[in-house]
Amino acid sequence: MKKNALSKVLTLLVLLAMTVTLFTACGAKDSKDTSKDKAGDGQYIGISMPTQSSERWIKDGASMKEILEDNGYTVDLQYAEDDIPTQKSQIENMITKGAKVLVIAAIDGSTLSDTLDAAAEGGVKVISYDRLLVNTDAVSYYATFDNRRVGQQQAESLVEGIKKLKGDAPYNIEIFAGSPDDTNSFYFFQGAMDVLQPLIDDGTMVVPSGQMTQEVVGTLRWDGAVAQSRMDAILAANYTDGKKLAGVLSPYDGISRGVLSSLTAFGLTGDDLPVVTGQDAEASSIKLIISGDQYSTILKDTRELAAVAAKMVDAVLTGKEPEINDTETYDNNVKIVPSYLLEPFIVTKENYQKLVIDSGYLTEDDIK
Ligand code: BGC
Repeated sequence: MKKNALSKVLTLLVLLAMTVTLFTACGAKDSKDTSKDKAGDGQYIGISMPTQSSERWIKDGASMKEILEDNGYTVDLQYAEDDIPTQKSQIENMITKGAKVLVIAAIDGSTLSDTLDAAAEGGVKVISYDRLLVNTDAVSYYATFDNRRVGQQQAESLVEGIKKLKGDAPYNIEIFAGSPDDTNSFYFFQGAMDVLQPLIDDGTMVVPSGQMTQEVVGTLRWDGAVAQSRMDAILAANYTDGKKLAGVLSPYDGISRGVLSSLTAFGLTGDDLPVVTGQDAEASSIKLIISGDQYSTILKDTRELAAVAAKMVDAVLTGKEPEINDTETYDNNVKIVPSYLLEPFIVTKENYQKLVIDSGYLTEDDIK
């Protein structure tokens, strides 16, 4: 009997101890979840993204919002649908509402300088996200990818695909570049030309349209419809005599889809489709890579970019130096902006599963 009573008391004591532990743990968790107790301390951060018409910016915004909110910040995420005055007024609104830091992927990197200079005078910190903000001293840091390398990879995959699928040289190619008001376009184009110019010079590659300067091959607002019209005009003027087009350098998946629409409307399907490159590993383009219509894209993991930018937010608010790996490349006409460059990857039919799906960047459902 005595033994029984003792074991009952012991059981009760153990239960009591467990309850107290559980209660304390829950209490601790609750208090930890209050933004005020986290590094961000509820401070208000404005994130200004260019457009929701492209998947990548939606992912960028969502990843950054999640990380910053987890760190205790209050986040205002706005998209400007590729309209410059809208982006300007969204940013001005964020400043009025007391933003401590602005993280900006500009539509046109040169149109915000007055707004940002004024913001900086009032103590607001600015981080340039993926696209460089130019003509302003206000920007503290730049989080981006190795953009020249992106261009080189696009051209490398173009050359690889052409050599694999299009027989012997010489090869006819056509060239597209991004929006002239986005500094990235310049780096992508320059990188692509690092690879293509020597091949054009030695006659391996020929550009029948003769259109090879960035002013002529640029695509305003990265608009697929603009690229489609230009491709239509090039085909009509240069390829009606049965000349074979081996490849098209495209700097972005949305442009690639416009180019592919033009090519198929011109009657180029199956093996006659030229090798077409891209960028951003958008779900609709991964589907085209699987079906063999598009040859390649470039994966730039926006989750990593968001994490880098979030660390820069912490750093500017605490006055600490964030991790930087480039202090030479990104001259914004006022200063060289200290940057962190992430690594881009070439994606083809051979490696999309590993790079894009197994990494969790897209799900199987996204590409169904
Ligand atoms: C980005 C690319 C994107 C393009 C169009 C560029 O600034 O770096 O990833 O494809 O804008 O949105």
